[in-house]
Amino acid sequence: MDVEAGKKRGYDGEGRGGFSYLGGPGETRVFRTVWMMIACMTLPTLVFVSGTYRPLLPLIVGAYQGRSQHQPQQQQREEPAVDAGEFAPPPRWTDLKELFISYQFTCFESADAVFHAVSDVPRDKYLAGLLSADFDEDTCQSRYQSTIYRKPSPHKPSAYLIQTLRKYEDRHRRCAPHTAPYNKTLPFLNPGPAPEKETECKYVLWTPAYGLGNRILSLTSAFLYALLTDRVVLINRGSDMTSLFCEPFPDTTWLLPPDFPISDFAPYRRPHPLRYGNLLRNKNISTESDDGRPPPSFVYFHLDHDYDTEDMHFFCEPDQAILRKVPWLFLRSNMYIVPSFFLNQEFEPKLGRMFPEKEAVFHHLSRYLFHPTNEVWGMVTRYYKSYMAMARERLGIQIRVFNSKDAPFDVVSKQVINCTLQEGLLPKLDANARAGDTATDPTKTKSVLLTSLYSGYFDKIKDMYWEHPAVGGVVLSMHQPTHEERQQTDKESHDLKAWAEINLLSLADVLVTSAWSTFGYTGQGLGGITPWILLLPKKGEMPEPTCVRDISMEPCFLTPPSYVCREKRNGDNGKVVPFVTHCTDAGRGLKLVDRT
Ligand code: GDP
Repeated sequence: MDVEAGKKRGYDGEGRGGFSYLGGPGETRVFRTVWMMIACMTLPTLVFVSGTYRPLLPLIVGAYQGRSQHQPQQQQREEPAVDAGEFAPPPRWTDLKELFISYQFTCFESADAVFHAVSDVPRDKYLAGLLSADFDEDTCQSRYQSTIYRKPSPHKPSAYLIQTLRKYEDRHRRCAPHTAPYNKTLPFLNPGPAPEKETECKYVLWTPAYGLGNRILSLTSAFLYALLTDRVVLINRGSDMTSLFCEPFPDTTWLLPPDFPISDFAPYRRPHPLRYGNLLRNKNISTESDDGRPPPSFVYFHLDHDYDTEDMHFFCEPDQAILRKVPWLFLRSNMYIVPSFFLNQEFEPKLGRMFPEKEAVFHHLSRYLFHPTNEVWGMVTRYYKSYMAMARERLGIQIRVFNSKDAPFDVVSKQVINCTLQEGLLPKLDANARAGDTATDPTKTKSVLLTSLYSGYFDKIKDMYWEHPAVGGVVLSMHQPTHEERQQTDKESHDLKAWAEINLLSLADVLVTSAWSTFGYTGQGLGGITPWILLLPKKGEMPEPTCVRDISMEPCFLTPPSYVCREKRNGDNGKVVPFVTHCTDAGRGLKLVDRT
């Protein structure tokens, strides 16, 4: 043991902790830390112990909430039409307890002590009003506990988004399966003409397709579409949707009931006669105002990556106008189609009010919709506490290989090492260190979470830091929860782990994700982290640069429409408005950015 270093940390050289080497009052860090801790605890303890201090508590809570909601207040001023206070839950004794713990947490951090224990009470558990307070906490612990583990988000939901979500929740309850309006709409689930008068409730049906990331992105898109068009989202539960996700809306369900007339969505593919592209091509639906014919009452939207120009008309204003009358829409997609909604001039004003920060669309909607079930949350929290919580810094690296010919193991592992060293995300190796040097610094702990289907990348980086010391005495620990070797979508045990890993990535401080991966997009969006992106290797060649910092944390719409609605011809949708531009990792792709 390095005795000198040990002395500095207050050890007695024989492994016993103590204060025997304190030079004098106030001269060591340990001494200062203890005083800081006592000082930090004194005020809240007095407040809680003495009844005479209780009248002050609402004032303190007000100050605390005012501080934590500084940003939304600014946004609220820009949007006078909505009173956010209507939606904010009133302060309660549990909130006061949170304040107490949050105060201690911050205080210990500022004391520069090596203390990173997870507080067991969430701060801002309703995510600044994004989440309804009407849920039973125990049935879905992740919903209100996520802020124990995630850093507070600097992106606050707008008051208008909060209002729109509360309205949606009311509509969903009113139109849920087996309610009277649902029963009245069910007879229209056929190719016959849509009713002249719009039904009270209208629906978007969604079915899971492809991997977990793809599903989360397409379901988020379907939900936003429902918000924009006053519809209700109902989902096919597939093999394991209920094992992965809690119900997102209070006192109701988004699951299609077992007695729903359609149980098999597999036939809904490109050749289906009710596919919107086919209806347009065959002139069975028309957007001409003088056509006079009603659209069918059930329409299928094929918005998978292999959709065609007619399908792309879905995003255009005249097409949306005619679809307003259709009670049942079924959407099949594996993409994040949200950027194209922002190109629609009918949707854009509402979107602008809901999302004054364009690059926080998926961040807010994913935190609103996707809460891991208790089983998945148990996996997330156990892993986090065991391997990530104690570190000063947490780095997440997500490695996704789509084609091993284009991206062979040696190239990808060099790419990851090159990127992380060059960007200062992993410490450089200390070439001058002698064997036996142990000048590690316990305040410089770094936990690296690596997710990949394969174990090779993890072994390579771990061995690198085992065989060589890191510059600056950084103590680095490497962790990889699984290496499943191959994608096994729809196998429940596999999907649970994949979802747990996406959540763990979202708990990192810094992320490196893989180009084109919806798995990575989901982790970065949930976490509110703009990642470094490992660019796609081509033909076995190392990309140059190996990685770049992304322009926004939003997912990329990987295969966007080539049809430009405003120009009524094929063109470049990345040039229509400044806040929809091409992605860093996929040149043709589109993403939302906060550029004006
Ligand atoms: P994408 O294909 O990268 O866009 O992401 P998806 O999530 O849509 O599909 C990939 C699927 O492969 C995941 O849902 C998992 O089933 C699996 N998978 C890919 N990478 C990982 C990983 O790092 N960990 C785990 N557990 N599964 C992974």
